[in-house]
Amino acid sequence: MTLDDLQALIDKMYSDKDRARGTPATFLWLVEEIGELASVLREGTQEQKEDEFADVVAWMVTLANVNNVNLTKALEDKYGKGCPGCGHLVCTCDTKP
Ligand SMILES: [Mg+2]
Ligand SMILES: [Zn+2]
Repeated sequence: MTLDDLQALIDKMYSDKDRARGTPATFLWLVEEIGELASVLREGTQEQKEDEFADVVAWMVTLANVNNVNLTKALEDKYGKGCPGCGHLVCTCDTKP
């Protein structure tokens, strides 16, 4: 499954509900799922971690759909040619603050 496939799948399954819910409520769902991920990262099984990573990505994709953002394009534009800071494939940005 590509990211485009996932974005189209989520849109097909939930588009009407997602757009009716809107950005603020969808963002809250995403944050709630990030909280669940934090919990299982601290003390969860591998299966629980996989489950919560899936939720976080799904809600991030949902939020992108509601905002008409194509994530593949966004990611290719920003990271497709390497580090956005230095432009190299292996980052050579100064790590000092
Ligand atoms: Mg969850
Ligand atoms: Zn860099």
